Amino acid sequence: MQMTNTREQIEFDVLFVGGGPANLAGAIRLMQLAGEKNLELEVALIEKGADIGSHALSGAIMDPVAVKELIPNYKEVGCPIENDVRGDSFYVLTKQWQYAAPFVPKYMKNKGFHIISLSRFVRWLASIAQDLGVNIFPGFAGTEVLYGQDNKTVIGVRTGDKGIGHDGQPKSNFEPGIDIMAKVTSFGEGAKGSLLREIATKLRLFDPKVPQTFETGIKEVIQLPESNFFSDNPVNDIHTLGYPLDLDTHSGGFIYEMKNNKVSVGLVVGLGYHNPMIDLYEEFIRFKKHPFVRGIISGGRVVEQGTRTLGNGSYYTMPKLAVDGAVFVGASASMLNAPALKGIHTSMKSGMLAAKAILEALSKEDFTQQTLYAYHDMFNKSWLKDEVYEGRNFAQALSKKMPAKIFHLGAQYLTQGRGFVDKMSIEKDSNTLSPLKDGDFQTAGRRYGKHDHDDVLFLDKLTGVYMSKTQHREDQPCHLIIHNPELCVNECLKDYRAPCTRFCPGNVYEMEIEQGTQEKRLKLNPSNCLHCKTCEIKDPYENITWTCPEGGDGPKYTML
Ligand SMILES: Cc1cc2nc3c(=O)[nH]c(=O)nc-3n(C[C@H](O)[C@H](O)[C@H](O)COP(=O)(O)OP(=O)(O)OC[C@H]3O[C@@H](n4cnc5c(N)ncnc54)[C@H](O)[C@@H]3O)c2cc1C
Ligand code: SF4
Repeated sequence: MQMTNTREQIEFDVLFVGGGPANLAGAIRLMQLAGEKNLELEVALIEKGADIGSHALSGAIMDPVAVKELIPNYKEVGCPIENDVRGDSFYVLTKQWQYAAPFVPKYMKNKGFHIISLSRFVRWLASIAQDLGVNIFPGFAGTEVLYGQDNKTVIGVRTGDKGIGHDGQPKSNFEPGIDIMAKVTSFGEGAKGSLLREIATKLRLFDPKVPQTFETGIKEVIQLPESNFFSDNPVNDIHTLGYPLDLDTHSGGFIYEMKNNKVSVGLVVGLGYHNPMIDLYEEFIRFKKHPFVRGIISGGRVVEQGTRTLGNGSYYTMPKLAVDGAVFVGASASMLNAPALKGIHTSMKSGMLAAKAILEALSKEDFTQQTLYAYHDMFNKSWLKDEVYEGRNFAQALSKKMPAKIFHLGAQYLTQGRGFVDKMSIEKDSNTLSPLKDGDFQTAGRRYGKHDHDDVLFLDKLTGVYMSKTQHREDQPCHLIIHNPELCVNECLKDYRAPCTRFCPGNVYEMEIEQGTQEKRLKLNPSNCLHCKTCEIKDPYENITWTCPEGGDGPKYTML
């Protein structure tokens, strides 16, 4: 069978790529504004997950400021809230003990905010968008940006082909991707967007001096017994620092009470860490086994698990917010309140501001960067800028060792983010691993132990993957591009002992010895991929590129 060049083309006024809070809020706001002006718009939103929410993972404590602006009666119309935060606490963990901080930093004061499941929340937003007339297409991954004749105006997105075999040849069920053309495309792919990467390279969207930096969060929902730590407890929002990592390594844990005796438990680790032997997944298990955390979750059973990266770079790592024919919203565009670890309300607000600029552009029939830059001007005048700006040096401070870290953080705390140096620099996450010396490998083995899992509360990596319900059609081209496989064995194994086998929480990368030749080679299990994108960010040789697999593949989260 021949691959056809004749692809279906569909035209819309506006296309949203990615069904996260940024784009869903944007689509809703656009339809609301169009409704006020009696404008009929054709609007589409594509999402690579099988359903809206399948790939949504967050903590999540949501500051309600954006949802209130978007849907003032959000509670009455069914916004899925797990719990309201009754009280916060903040602990420093050592190996055996926990010490309550004398005060909770202002960023972590969440009383009155909502504890949500992002997966449920975005499904609810999608239902509202649909009611307003947005055409929502889950199971469609945007895999290529389409440009106009000038080779710089974005005119839409091509979705991925389906039914291609592992050898790159079409199979009997081959379906070519669709060219979705739009006057304006809003890219809201979340942290480390793959299409954003493409456009950023072509149109130079980022300032190379302060790179975007990231954290990886591994999270579970655990079903607790009816009588549990939170019964009658005034605190249901817990944050931790320290163990299982040291205070030099930027990391933190969270425990939030959901409804029906469920709890959301996660560990977030900054990807600027130095030790290549760190195994992110096993650190999460160590976190759960800390006596304090174990005490909270004991008697529980993991009901869902997943992983996702988040950008923590804030203001100085924002790309240009618009180009001809396109805008960039949400986490892809660094719209995060980094000190508060909150990106849901900021992403939503960015989508809402972009929607206003898009509507103005539609009214003027002018989709140039100049017109769409109204979004940037509105950003500058809104509360969103204040939040993103306050975190402008935060990731940089966290990347320092103690005690410099504390001095910088303290100074920033007192000066609304300015600190001692404004603009602080930071290394790219791929540059921070230290090469290993002989013997480090064995030391790391002792750190994690061999039989540290059960099948109920402390899952091994593969059981964790199973609990994410991730699936990929096996016979398709590998969506993880290893640019130079020899580098993996000749350089990376020698210098860093193949850190991909440890930073990937999905057990996708394994070093295996070929039976005949006894040669080592990197083996990939792409079907396990959780779409977190840690590998593309942390690989010390930038030898891995993550691309979208077939639309509809990947995790199937329902409550993360
Ligand atoms: C562990 C963790 C804890 C967090 N805790 C909190 C918290 O407590 N409070 C808070 O406010 N924020 C929190 N955040 C941050 C918050 O979740 C994000 O900032 C927010 O979800 C970003 O929204 P978004 O719409 O930009 O992107 P996302 O939520 O990442 O959504 C992007 C969507 O686009 C889809 N997509 C990507 N590429 C394509 C493509 N090419 N084609 C089609 N679809 C595509 C993805 O599948 C995804 O569904 C946390 C994040 C993590 C990872
Ligand atoms: S292969 Fe990459 S994106 Fe997939 S789970 Fe592993 S680290 Fe995450």
